[in-house]
Formats: sequence, structure tokens, C-alpha cells
Amino acid sequence: MAKKQSDYLVGGMQPLTMIDFPGRLATVIFAQGCNLRCRFCYNRTLLPDRASEMLSWTSIIDFLKDRQGFIEGVVFSGGEPCRQEGFIRALEQVKELGLETALHTNGFYPGPVITALKLRLLNYVAIDFKTSFERYEELTGSSIAEDDFIAMLREIARAGIGHEVRVTVHPDIVDESEIMKIADIVADCGIEKFVLQRFQHGEALDKNLRAISSLGLKQINLIKLRQRFPDFEIRGDQTQGEIVSKLKFG
Ligand code: SF4
Repeated sequence: MAKKQSDYLVGGMQPLTMIDFPGRLATVIFAQGCNLRCRFCYNRTLLPDRASEMLSWTSIIDFLKDRQGFIEGVVFSGGEPCRQEGFIRALEQVKELGLETALHTNGFYPGPVITALKLRLLNYVAIDFKTSFERYEELTGSSIAEDDFIAMLREIARAGIGHEVRVTVHPDIVDESEIMKIADIVADCGIEKFVLQRFQHGEALDKNLRAISSLGLKQINLIKLRQRFPDFEIRGDQTQGEIVSKLKFG
């Protein structure tokens, strides 16, 4: 049976990034539409299923063909890249151009992620762990299927590809004890890289989220996290990041 032509909906593109796909020069594709409404989200134009200004998938493929030999990979970000029917075909088309692929996902679509892993269509996966499972609905507007999410983390860890699980830190979203419980779940799944990133105040959906200047974690917990993961990174907090980078074990 002929493969259905992808009608993957794209709300925007960043032609070049050196940070979203570790070790690769890459283009970022922002999928249109998201199933969640996270209080800290600043991608509001990407949230509706359709927008007045979208890029055609054909124009994306043409752009990538022009950059062959220059860029090394494509990052599927969003919005939520896995919820569209054309996701797997879009990955295949990018792979057919000889490019590597990275995925940034909210973790609500374990099925497509696991399918893509089995088909070897992904080279890097970054998953957001939004908050403790009990608070998902309060933060995102949707509850999450805990067992499926954990099963997906295990598959990612087993896949032998680069990966990270990241938590956006704000005391109104996830407190320190919840961060430590999340870290336990993630480590038990075999995930190697754990990232804590500071909430960046700006265009967040919830205007009541106050800005924070630091992650504010206790030093003892930074040490525990550094011990727990082969790779533990702090983003957006230079002071706590330096503490972590100076910790050496084994
Ligand atoms: S932050 Fe939340 S609402 Fe915004 S794009 Fe990501 S998953 Fe969707």
C-alpha cells in the first residue's frame, strides 16, 4: 500500500540551532497545535490546531533539501509534534534526506514515540515532566496516563539514543519534594540525563506566575541529583548550575 503523503502542520521554523539538538547543527520545526494549556507556556500562537500563518510541509522539505550538507538534523518541537497523524511519515521524509531527528514532546503520546523508536526514526528525545502526576491537571488542563508515560520513559532509556527528561521549575508548579520524587521515577526508568530549567517569565499563559530568579534548591538535593544521574544539568540559574558543575563523583 502506498504511503499516505504527510500533511504535517507546521506553525513555524527556526532555520538554525546549536542548542536544541545536542552536538548537531539543526533546524527546528514547530508543529502546530497542542493538547495542553500549561500555565507557563509562552508558545500561544502554536496552541490552536490551525493558524492563519502556517508553513506548508512541502516548503519545509524544500528548505531542508537546500540545506543538505550544511545542517545535520531536524528538531520536531511544538506545540506538540506527536499528536498529528502525519508525524511518523514526516520523520521518515526527514530521514530520507539523510538528516538526524530530535523530538521535543510533552509525553502525552507514548504510542507514536514508541513506534518511532522501534522504526529507528529518532536520534534524540527530550521529554517534559511537567509536575507530580497528581498535579498534572491543575498545571496543564489534562491528567496524564501515568503507567503509559512511565513505560515510554523506559523505552526511551532502552533505545540507546541521546535523551533527556526536563522539569520547568517554579514553586507554584512543582515544589522541591515533588522534584525529588520525579527524579526518583525518572532514574528508576533508566533515564540518564535529568534537566531542571528555571521558569522564564514573559508571555506565559498564566499572568499570575511571578518571576523567579533562582531554582532555589537546597544544596543537599543538588548533590543527591548529581549522584543519581550520569548527566544532571541546570538551565537558567548560573549559581546553582556552577555548584552542580563542580560536583565530582567516582
Ligand atoms: S508548554 Fe505545554 S501548552 Fe505549551 S506547547 Fe508545550 S506542552 Fe503545549
